[in-house]
Amino acid sequence: MSKVHNFSAGPCILPKEVLTKASEAVINFNNLDLSLIEISHRSKDFVEVMDWATSLVKELLNVPEGYSVIFLQGGASTQFLMVAYNLLTENGTGAYLNTGTWASKAIKEAEILGTVKVLASSEDKNFNYIPKGYSIPLDADYLHITSNNTIFGTQVKEFPECPVTLVCDMSSDIFSRKINVSDFGLIYAGAQKNMGPAGATMVIIKDEILGKVGRAIPSMLNYQIHIKKESMYNTPPVFAVYVSMLTLEWLKDVGGVEAIQKVNNAKAELIYGEIDRNPLFRGIVAEEDRSTMNATFVLEDESMNDAFNQALSDARINGLKGHRSVGGFRASMYNALPLESVQVLVDVMSNFRQ
Ligand SMILES: *Cc1c(COP(=O)(O)O)cnc(C)c1O
Repeated sequence: MSKVHNFSAGPCILPKEVLTKASEAVINFNNLDLSLIEISHRSKDFVEVMDWATSLVKELLNVPEGYSVIFLQGGASTQFLMVAYNLLTENGTGAYLNTGTWASKAIKEAEILGTVKVLASSEDKNFNYIPKGYSIPLDADYLHITSNNTIFGTQVKEFPECPVTLVCDMSSDIFSRKINVSDFGLIYAGAQKNMGPAGATMVIIKDEILGKVGRAIPSMLNYQIHIKKESMYNTPPVFAVYVSMLTLEWLKDVGGVEAIQKVNNAKAELIYGEIDRNPLFRGIVAEEDRSTMNATFVLEDESMNDAFNQALSDARINGLKGHRSVGGFRASMYNALPLESVQVLVDVMSNFRQ
């Protein structure tokens, strides 16, 4: 049987060899005759996994001195709250850019703890663009942005020049393109979009931004505690960290972030080229803000949806249904999705016209 082309938005495609190695480790890890998921997280074998995963993050993203990398649980959604707990001061302001569902949720959590100022929002057009030209208050504790809006298919192409601590939810485009970590105070990402299975959340933090709020922070929500304990304050999500480590090794083997960025750009060009060329389809976000990770589009004539879905399923294309808040279609093209799968999709779209 021909292979399935997996365009799922998250959890999503992982490299085949990663899945093979992960399944082997579940049965017999490091020739211990024990499973990865039945040994102590404090054993030498697992501590090595955590250390190697952490150093791969540092290497692949060129994380400079003065930053810590940790793996936590609770998904990116817990980071919405942790960011505010750790960075929003009692009389200060957290500045936010509202670019979609996830950003809105981050705003809602921060409002529990203090004053939030939404600098700009694209809600007026169902989040189909990235607001620009807003000004950042110099006295804000931080500015929180979402680099890639997974649901709507927009992506920040140029990060704002930010006079205050820049915090970024990079859940759905981390490791997909080169970034300059030193431009950010804090970066977080749930693993399940571009790094591994659900269950681990990676956080990169500039150490000096911490310890400035007066409030008591519950231990599990305190970055400083997790940093000090090297992601082992409590039992880490061992399987998710291990598979993330394997995915990062895979990324390193294929040439790192710079190499994968070229492939990602080629995939995006291919699909958006077809969306623009084919009169049956229409992209739904502003062209300059189109995401390289999640391409959203609709059929001009929605009565053709069923027929198109049938054509997708005949070609064994999985996961193309748009998010319920947007409708239409969404092709998620994370790092592990080969160019070949995008070509198959583009062929289906182009044949559908005939
Ligand atoms: C998926 C996603 C989230 C939510 O992640 P969870 O791990 O489910 O909490 C947050 N932000 C962005 C940008 C996402 O893509």
